[in-house]
Amino acid sequence: MLKTIGVIGAGQMGSGIAHVCALAGLDVLIHDVAPSAIESGLATISGNMARQVGSQRITEDERHAALKRLTAAEDLDALAKADFIIEAATEREEVKQAIYKDLCPRLSSHAILATNTSSISITRLAAATDRPEKFLGVHFMNPVPVMQLVELVRGIATDEETFSAARNLCDLLGKEISVSEDFPAFIVNRVLIPMINEAIYVLYEGVGSVSAIDKAMKLGANHPMGPLQLADFIGLDTCLAIMQVLYDGLADSKYRPCPLLVKYVEAGWLGRKTGKGFYDYSGDEPVATR
Ligand code: NAD
Repeated sequence: MLKTIGVIGAGQMGSGIAHVCALAGLDVLIHDVAPSAIESGLATISGNMARQVGSQRITEDERHAALKRLTAAEDLDALAKADFIIEAATEREEVKQAIYKDLCPRLSSHAILATNTSSISITRLAAATDRPEKFLGVHFMNPVPVMQLVELVRGIATDEETFSAARNLCDLLGKEISVSEDFPAFIVNRVLIPMINEAIYVLYEGVGSVSAIDKAMKLGANHPMGPLQLADFIGLDTCLAIMQVLYDGLADSKYRPCPLLVKYVEAGWLGRKTGKGFYDYSGDEPVATR
């Protein structure tokens, strides 16, 4: 029986995953390599739950009980109690592999390990663990408390018990699932991120300004958010990492990351999480940067 969830990485996604698991009644241990990230992740969860109370989606008692189920795990040893671990650390293969190497010897033998990767091969990540049959991709969408979908991705070795446990977890969280084969960027990001990359090319080539592109796609294609606004929301480093995985994994020049995206990431303009990307978030309203 699933009782304790471990979450590794307390950034945008890790904190969202911890949020929904705690509200669903699971005990959650949340770890990050940066202690300050755990602190700010827990503060974000508390604030976001308060907003849910404000809009009457949950009660104050539910918020209080969920916050009590969340515990900061200062090191990986603290995750030994977890039955199901979801890794949501930075989208870099070597970072994830290094985490598994340190983590696996500390886990109980029954523990399932899942990754929230947006693009990296599940089979290759599984091979860096001591339990490829108990490893799979559980790809939540951002923001986790709001978005309905989770993509489930089996690696070549993932066994049925592991897949069912992940499906049961999604049921418990009230999420819909979509099953994807283990191909670069799976389904959602195979379609979404090249569209965002193309919007950045449109900006780079001077076809339109940031506001013109976002307005065009919102009102012209009925997208709830413009592609550049969405890129800032996802994180430009994550968008670039996904394009790179598509480019390397599918060996097709149509996935070439836009040089302007590379430049923004090199400048440290990663979108909302750093206060600046295609928009500047330092004032009351986001201001387009181009
Ligand atoms: P983020 O930058 O907000 O958070 C990443 C966190 O990982 C940071 O707090 C960082 O300190 C931590 N981290 C880095 N190395 C670590 C280590 N060795 N051990 C523990 N923690 C470590 O990024 P994010 O947007 O939350 O993305 C996390 C994962 O979720 C990535 O794999 C990403 O592809 C995936 N994802 C992102 C989105 C999105 O829209 N941003 C959506 C779905 C999936």
